[in-house]
Amino acid sequence: MYGEFDLSIPETLQEAVAALSSSGKRAVPLSGGTNVLLDIRSQKLAPDLLVGLGSVAGLRGISVGDGRMTLGGQTTISDLLASAEIADKAPALLQAARVFAGQMVRNAATVAGNIACGSPAADLVPPLLSLDAEVDLTGKDGTRRVALADFYTGYKTDQRKPDELITAVSWPEPAAGTFGSFYKLARRHGDAITVNGVAVSITLQDGRCTRARIALGSVGPVPMRARKAEALLEGQALTQDKIAAAASAAAAECSPIDDVRATGAYRRQMVGVLVARLVNMAIQPKDQEN
Ligand SMILES: Cc1cc2nc3c(=O)[nH]c(=O)nc-3n(C[C@H](O)[C@H](O)[C@H](O)COP(=O)(O)OP(=O)(O)OC[C@H]3O[C@@H](n4cnc5c(N)ncnc54)[C@H](O)[C@@H]3O)c2cc1C
Repeated sequence: MYGEFDLSIPETLQEAVAALSSSGKRAVPLSGGTNVLLDIRSQKLAPDLLVGLGSVAGLRGISVGDGRMTLGGQTTISDLLASAEIADKAPALLQAARVFAGQMVRNAATVAGNIACGSPAADLVPPLLSLDAEVDLTGKDGTRRVALADFYTGYKTDQRKPDELITAVSWPEPAAGTFGSFYKLARRHGDAITVNGVAVSITLQDGRCTRARIALGSVGPVPMRARKAEALLEGQALTQDKIAAAASAAAAECSPIDDVRATGAYRRQMVGVLVARLVNMAIQPKDQEN
């Protein structure tokens, strides 16, 4: 059952940060609540104060400008699904949103909550890693920007200070000729925890790969980039030999564990299969994509 806690509903970012910094209180940000409320009910979390962010102005929305795409932290999964910009310029994120939970959770669950929950299986994180996303952290001393690839410091730990909020996540608009995709391996489409999540972003110019990003979820303590695999593709014409080598490298550099959903050995094998499959999609003629 729920213990006792106070609830603050700030209307400005300044008020939200001030509430989080309340001295002597264990203050916890609350976005959609699809993780927080479950954690309180199961007594994993016992806050003194919940700081609800749903009424804070200016934290929700998708924008494109100055060569960057930006998601406000309070943007929901349903917002991603409804966005023409996401469909056009970040298809891997759209694919992650399509297999995320069920409709009720999608309406509440936010981008900031997904990043901050720190789960290795958080479905938005591999696509965001593949886009070179950066996270804006706002606290009483202002806003700092950190690369999502450096944000997590270990299993469910990260660089966020207790008085900071994730206010936005942004990334450079992908270059022309960039293919992006995400695949969630799970028991069902939606409402199932990811066994393996793989996102790729591949830029091809004049028949060569000029930029490769391969990001993996649920195969280590934190979502990760497969940097050795990426290095095997960059600068290369993507032949089947090169793709197979990158797929093997990705499988070798992750560190999956056995759990109730799958064995580590199966997960590692499927990383190789899925990386090869998604990179191959990048080299298909356009009308065969997806
Ligand atoms: C039935 C069900 C199905 C689900 N399916 C999926 C799924 O398919 N894929 C998936 O990835 N997840 C899934 N989840 C998990 C959850 O819905 C997501 O992780 C979601 O994105 C969390 O967002 P939220 O806004 O609800 O976060 P909350 O529950 O509000 O918060 C989550 C964590 O983030 C912190 N936090 C929230 N906002 C901020 C902020 N702005 N700055 C700093 N910290 C913040 C909170 O303090 C808390 O620690 C599912 C959950 C349920 C209950």
